[in-house]
Amino acid sequence: MSPLEHALVALIPVTIYILLRHRRLPSKTMLSVVCFGSVFPDLVDKPVSYANLTPWGRVFMHSLPFAIPIVLVVLGYALITNRLHLGTGFSVGYLLHLPGDWHTRLLNGEIPPDLLWPLTSIPAHPGPAHWWGPHNINIIWWSAFSIITLSIVAIRMGMDISTQMKRSSS
Ligand SMILES: [Zn+2]
Repeated sequence: MSPLEHALVALIPVTIYILLRHRRLPSKTMLSVVCFGSVFPDLVDKPVSYANLTPWGRVFMHSLPFAIPIVLVVLGYALITNRLHLGTGFSVGYLLHLPGDWHTRLLNGEIPPDLLWPLTSIPAHPGPAHWWGPHNINIIWWSAFSIITLSIVAIRMGMDISTQMKRSSS
């Protein structure tokens, strides 16, 4: 799936849920968090794969042995800072990304070994993603976009953690 498709796959059910449960549209913060979660695996794994640090662009953050601990840490932080709804939004976006990439094989009852990497070995795959190429998204531009986005989020998270620590110590 392309990044836009991943975002839509996450945003549509979250928006419907919030509309039905709270009778209002999701906040801008919730939309941003869900969007970020839905493309987070591609923000990390496509540039990492392009740098030849992993076998291809659907392992590492795309793999359950990494995804589950990350989601648990995010949910734990969201819980202790009373923002469980935002942590859940990120987690829903993130966790929907994985079956989104593998929906054809999963619907056929097959579990791709890539989902369990590095616990399993995986076959060789060409390129970081099917949507990468001269007539599609340029991987260098995507990598630059990824680095900028992840840097902004890391700075924002650092500021947030610092604020929460000051709040809890006072
Ligand atoms: Zn992906």
